[in-house]
Amino acid sequence: MAVERTLSIIKPDAVAKNVIGKIYSRFESNGLKIVASRMIHLSRSEAEGFYAVHRERPFFKDLVEFMMSGPVMVQALEGESAVAKNRELMGATDPKKADKGTIRADFAESIDANAVHGSDSLDNAKIEIAYFFPSMEVYSS
Ligand code: UDP
Repeated sequence: MAVERTLSIIKPDAVAKNVIGKIYSRFESNGLKIVASRMIHLSRSEAEGFYAVHRERPFFKDLVEFMMSGPVMVQALEGESAVAKNRELMGATDPKKADKGTIRADFAESIDANAVHGSDSLDNAKIEIAYFFPSMEVYSS
């Protein structure tokens, strides 16, 4: 196992539900440390740029609209196997299919308003962290 960093976003639905602290608490109690964080209301070009890999998917337009619908909380998380650990804590993309006790099972409504984003690989984590944070603003533990 290795110490990794991953990018997490608390999406507009979860920010509006006032559960940032509850979600942070799940990270912290599962060995993930918040090493950078900022609240941001994404512009269209920022949301489109972040999800550029999904540009051809049928849900792209709605996904971008949703991500622009309110502020999001963006954080870099650090810990042992952080990429996989965060994905495990998040649960499946569709909250109806997410395991009990996961963030999406507990806080998400639907596949398109699903509370959190998490990098799906170490390579993408590096790209996504750099998208939001200059390296000087990520504080290693
Ligand atoms: N998404 C959607 N409809 C779908 C599949 C995905 O709205 O049928 C959205 C959903 O918000 C998801 C995001 O697109 O979180 C990115 O999709 P991905 O397959 O990468 O899922 P994730 O990695 O977020 O679990």
